[in-house]
Amino acid sequence: MAASEYEQCTPASPASPAGFDGSLTLAGVPDAPACENCARTETDQADLVPVHRIYLQIDEWGDQEPKATVVDDVERWCPSCRSIYPHELVGP
Ligand SMILES: [Zn+2]
Repeated sequence: MAASEYEQCTPASPASPAGFDGSLTLAGVPDAPACENCARTETDQADLVPVHRIYLQIDEWGDQEPKATVVDDVERWCPSCRSIYPHELVGP
């Protein structure tokens, strides 16, 4: 009866170290810094810069200045969000 040991194919999980019961909520890096706008994780925390988001309200005819509303909350944005979306850097 050599077939029985063949059927015992426990899926090996390389992500979980031996002896660990898997109670971690996140596999991988526990505290990876992430952009608060697009949720993309950054390897370098220095790339995430605290900013105030700016909402632009453009009137439907487009012939008035857009109304800019600066949000009080501080979010940390990655470089690409900072190049795309209006924002204001958090001053010292
Ligand atoms: Zn981003």
